[in-house]
Amino acid sequence: MTIYAPPPEFPQHDATDPGLLGAIARGEARLTTGQALELLTKAPIHALGRAADARCREVHGDSVRTYVIDRNINYTNVCTARCTFCAFYRTADAPDAYTLEYEQLFEKIEQLSAIGGTQILMQGGMNPDLSLDWYLDLLNEIRQRYPHIHVHAFSPPEFIEFVHFFNPPGKNLEEKCRWVMVRLKDAGLHSIPGGGGEIFAPSVRSKIGMGKCDAEAWLTVMYVAHSLGMHTSATMMFGHIEGLADRVHHMSLVRAWQDKALRDFGANNSNDAGAAPGGHYTAFIAWPFQPENTPLGRLKEWPSEGDTERFGETFPGDAVAKLDGSGTKGMHPEFGRRLRRAGATQYLRTQALSRLFLDNIYSIGSSWVTMGPHIGQVALQFGANDMGSVMMEENVVSAAGTTYCLDEAVLCRLIRDAGFTPAQRNNTYDVIRLHADETAPDKRVIDWSEHRAKRLHHERATEVKGTAELTVGATT
Ligand code: SF4
Repeated sequence: MTIYAPPPEFPQHDATDPGLLGAIARGEARLTTGQALELLTKAPIHALGRAADARCREVHGDSVRTYVIDRNINYTNVCTARCTFCAFYRTADAPDAYTLEYEQLFEKIEQLSAIGGTQILMQGGMNPDLSLDWYLDLLNEIRQRYPHIHVHAFSPPEFIEFVHFFNPPGKNLEEKCRWVMVRLKDAGLHSIPGGGGEIFAPSVRSKIGMGKCDAEAWLTVMYVAHSLGMHTSATMMFGHIEGLADRVHHMSLVRAWQDKALRDFGANNSNDAGAAPGGHYTAFIAWPFQPENTPLGRLKEWPSEGDTERFGETFPGDAVAKLDGSGTKGMHPEFGRRLRRAGATQYLRTQALSRLFLDNIYSIGSSWVTMGPHIGQVALQFGANDMGSVMMEENVVSAAGTTYCLDEAVLCRLIRDAGFTPAQRNNTYDVIRLHADETAPDKRVIDWSEHRAKRLHHERATEVKGTAELTVGATT
């Protein structure tokens, strides 16, 4: 086995130097954080897109782009945290608090299985009333009933709370987390989703993730998973109070811990992280903050009406953000009080940068769920190789206002119209169904008016003991 070594950095070059971008596309050079910030702030969007597309084609080829059929199952909305961007959580005594019964969960998996689904993405609030045995019994039952379904479940903040709730043996967080994770893995947990990443910089995280774990703990949970041979994803939620340097800092931590995982647990080289034998991050997915029904969403935008004399002033998040994460909230009096939401171009710029910067991560996912199907389609030209999921259900992002939903035929058509052959994949990005001929889901459609973007699954509170309406969301 080759010892993993990341590509070299060339800090003396301008970020937009065609020679540097060509070397990055070939996997022969690595962006510094300074160059990444320069690209994010100054590069023309088409140049950024072209460079990210070149890198994506180097890693994934010119022809196939993928999607997965999975189902988001949010098993409880009871949560000890109070994230200001979240419209999903409830206190245990809230009238619409819920925890799904096992049978309700199994019914959802049956429905997924019936449409050819391969994976569940199971995440919840952090509910102190659920015991370790509740999770172990659930995983064991799922494994016995649905051995063909991959269980992608429990994001790092949930694991941190498992450590608090279950009080496992161990000298430190890593050991305690390992004790819990080994048991869940033995019971049938396959991989860990990257939920709860948000923005890692402490200044931002302390303002938006009330009661949620810090970056060190988040990354440690994933490192424990990697040490056990499990794959994980990483995420970033941006376009709120953070500065642009915070996005680069966030990605730099993901990249550094991926280097560590590939070095410690095995890899062939940086270009084929997807084939590395050890556990590692297989994917990175970034999406813009969805403001509806959230305290964070009630902040005034920057600049707002009445601020016209302030146009051109530095956004408070940028005044605070540092590439090494050392910014502190006292550095600007309005930090955390103003929003700078990300539109389509910011989304595409940020995603393109993630493809170029995260040279050691195999898959970059398009977030059509939050951006809409057509921006999601354009994202395939901005470094994304994967369209995420045909989803039957999601409750967290959708509670904050997102309602996009696609069926398999529409997703295939979007990929094909973007110039690629659609293929269904599994959790490890192996193609399980290549849709190259007339039997493809999109080729079999006779009337496209029946296959528009829509809500594919729509539950009402009463079906799950009184929660908010359920629609769709992003896969992590
Ligand atoms: S985002 Fe997750 S951890 Fe935060 S309040 Fe919502 S459910 Fe809880």
